[in-house]
Amino acid sequence: MAGVLTGLLAAPWRFFHTNAAPALSAPSAPLRLDFESGDLSFWNAEGAAFLNQPIRGHKFTTSQVRPGLITVGGDYWDGPHPVGHKGDYWISTENHLTGTLTSDEFLLEQDTPWFNFLISGNEDMRVHGVSLLIKATRTNARKFAGAYPRVRLADVGDFYQIFQATGHGNEIMRRVSFNTSQFVGEYGRIRVTDNATSGHINVDDFQFSAAPPQTLPLEASAVAVDATAPVWGFADLHSHPMAHLAYGGVIFWGKPDGPIDTALPWCTPAHGAGGTGIAGQNGNVLMTLFEETGYGSGLGHLVGGYPQFDGWPKFTTTVHQQMYIDWIRRAFDGGLRLLVAHAVNNELLASQYNGNVPYDDVSAVETQIAAMKTLVANHSDWMQIAYSSSEARSSIQQNKLAIVLGVEVDSIGNWKDPSTLTQSTITTYLNHLYNDLGVRHLFPIHLTNNVFGGAAVYNDLFNVDNFYLHNDYFQVQDGSTLGFQFRLEVDPGPAVAITRVTMGYNPPDSEYQQFSQGHMNAAGLNSLGSFFIRSMMHLGMLIEVDHMSYKAVEDTLTLAEQYSYPVVSGHSSFQDLTWQWENETQSIHKCSGEQNKTAAQVERIRKLGGIIAPIANQMDIRSVGDPIPTLAGKVPADSAGSSKAWAQAYLYAVNKMGGRGVGIGTDTNGLAKYNSPRFGLNSSYYLNYAIDGAGVDAGRDPLRAGQIAAQGNGVQYDKPILDVRHYRFEGVLEGNVYDATDRDIWQGVGLYYAGLNPWTNSSIPDINDTVANFAKGLFATNDAQLELPTPFNGNTPWEQRAAFLVKTGQTPGTSDPQAVYDLYPKVLAIWNKWLAMQGNNTPLTRSYAGQRDFDINLDGVAHYGMLPDLFQDLKNVGLTATDLAPLFSSAEDYIQTWALCESRSLTL
Ligand SMILES: [Zn+2]
Ligand SMILES: [Zn+2]
Repeated sequence: MAGVLTGLLAAPWRFFHTNAAPALSAPSAPLRLDFESGDLSFWNAEGAAFLNQPIRGHKFTTSQVRPGLITVGGDYWDGPHPVGHKGDYWISTENHLTGTLTSDEFLLEQDTPWFNFLISGNEDMRVHGVSLLIKATRTNARKFAGAYPRVRLADVGDFYQIFQATGHGNEIMRRVSFNTSQFVGEYGRIRVTDNATSGHINVDDFQFSAAPPQTLPLEASAVAVDATAPVWGFADLHSHPMAHLAYGGVIFWGKPDGPIDTALPWCTPAHGAGGTGIAGQNGNVLMTLFEETGYGSGLGHLVGGYPQFDGWPKFTTTVHQQMYIDWIRRAFDGGLRLLVAHAVNNELLASQYNGNVPYDDVSAVETQIAAMKTLVANHSDWMQIAYSSSEARSSIQQNKLAIVLGVEVDSIGNWKDPSTLTQSTITTYLNHLYNDLGVRHLFPIHLTNNVFGGAAVYNDLFNVDNFYLHNDYFQVQDGSTLGFQFRLEVDPGPAVAITRVTMGYNPPDSEYQQFSQGHMNAAGLNSLGSFFIRSMMHLGMLIEVDHMSYKAVEDTLTLAEQYSYPVVSGHSSFQDLTWQWENETQSIHKCSGEQNKTAAQVERIRKLGGIIAPIANQMDIRSVGDPIPTLAGKVPADSAGSSKAWAQAYLYAVNKMGGRGVGIGTDTNGLAKYNSPRFGLNSSYYLNYAIDGAGVDAGRDPLRAGQIAAQGNGVQYDKPILDVRHYRFEGVLEGNVYDATDRDIWQGVGLYYAGLNPWTNSSIPDINDTVANFAKGLFATNDAQLELPTPFNGNTPWEQRAAFLVKTGQTPGTSDPQAVYDLYPKVLAIWNKWLAMQGNNTPLTRSYAGQRDFDINLDGVAHYGMLPDLFQDLKNVGLTATDLAPLFSSAEDYIQTWALCESRSLTL
């Protein structure tokens, strides 16, 4: 080892100083000047422009590098932007400084004729440029004197300038190359010039190579960037755009593509009247269980799709399309650059809801992958399927969304019986997935145990699924020593109870009760599973460790470490951020289960060069400051399920992963809810678990009032909320925080800011008298205008008086009745909340569909196109551009992890 190192140090490049004899015979690496030494050795700097060079790391922001790139407004995205420099160090001059940088002398070699380097910045050959000079000698004067301009360098002598390049008007570095074959044997120097007090130049990675450099065109321009130049943008590692084709095609409503009126009409044909399943196409009343009316009460659900959109999309929806093409486009416009689109399925659901198309997992995968390819083909101007890491990189360099095809089903290959499954059967189907379908990202295990191993135990419904598929139940053991506190049978929910009657579900209750501290699946990865993982490695596929039992994750990580092959956790949550059973929470679902990655597992994924993507909806989790005190207070963990909850998980992941390899896993269309809003009736939604039929969380629910009060600096939009129909202000009325009067105040304030004045407009839709009174009070210009109570209107006009006092900055007086005193603080609190929603960000462009306008403050993440809104809120609650930098390099990190998979696959 030591000998090799000494040799490298002794013979860096084939260069020599002017006062040294040329080392012509010594074989060594070709000349490469990449500034990675962190200093200017081999260079001579003159002038202030090169005083503090080279610089290190990112210098420019997105708005500087790609002005106009982000069209959704806001400022969450304007952080560090890669320009394509190589390594850590590069040269970038300041606009007001001038100077020159001249290399030492080197010999132009026959084997490495391709002079090439990276350059960007201002375009002006006279003052900003790079030139290649060759020393003027008596012998070469005949050849070059007439052909090339002659340049005199003080103290060094005369040179011919044989090549020159300048910037191209932006910061993204292009790769310039020039063939020096006809100058072999001459002595050269490189000279970098910034001779203007305005404008600047960026350069890096000068080299002489044997072959021309590999480049690819940037977007439609003639600018060629390195084929490995880093991309900008975030990656969503988990989504299900084709969920409407899953589950037998009957549960999930709405298509992701096509005209909006046919893609997203009212859901009654499938979900029945009022979302009850009654008179739906399959007449299945089980539908009533799937989604609540409003945000937490009643059976069935609101059905309004296009154009009203007063039923869905909303952050709590689980069975309505949230990835309509316009919404994917908005996410793309806001910085999404890589999307993993998983085919998904569940045979149990399909059977229980009378699926009307083939619903075995193999069929579901075929159908959804084909449909995904069609969707991408329909929008090939801005999206493209990536079948390799380099295709993903070039798609993004072309300013397209790179789509990676994935699969997340319970029974890959429809295999249910390991005893009849052979390795060659596995290989054949896996090759089919890879070669014929183009799948690159895969879950070996999903919700149930399968032929490969054990699933994470964290939901009783998955045990029902396991029973349905395998006529068997999860076998658990004590998981408490590993920190797992979730237990089956503690809070199974009503749907599971029904299956005991309808399906004969009869799990080994007494066995489960033996392990009273916490459950973990007794099954890990079996030998077929190990073979499957190695087969995925052989193909260079991305291996998902989510949904695996703890033991299966451990087994997979051990295998991965054996082969130095990275793995992915694409929709993660973390054990360190869960609550402690009973003393902190009375909801078993907030305690650690096997779905949560342990700190040790995250560390192993980091070491392997893997990538982690915290699931968008983290629900009610603890502050990142608890496990990592240095991050305490960075973003208060005081709005359960909102952007603030995701911020905890994100900060945790970035810290544990060492600043790279952290994306987002939205799980959109994954039968899961999205992030709740920080304002309005559903603020801190996930503190209240009564809404899931999972028991009131007596430990956490009382915090709701305080969490709601703590919210400020909401996302400011370019336009006010104009759609203030009543459904917009429905929400959780439990928890002694907001009551029905508060709901009416929210709507009344909404009317005021929408300019809907009940004094002058008698046809405002969807308001009651109370709402109108609050709005009248806000619109009133003087006391005399206010209506007084009469025997016929009760005391409702006092609502006008309370609102008028708030609006005009007054307080109730001695002549005001108690009713005004009671209403005044309620109106004031909500009035102030509405003002607090107009935060300090550059206004974000509002998202619209049909008659709906969307607002992260009130609606949470209602659809996929609100990811920009979510990220803007992340910034508003305290994440800086630097904090968000890993997120916006997550497309790059995914590609790097993928490239590592590919390169490792060759050596297996
Ligand atoms: Zn519906
Ligand atoms: Zn999923």
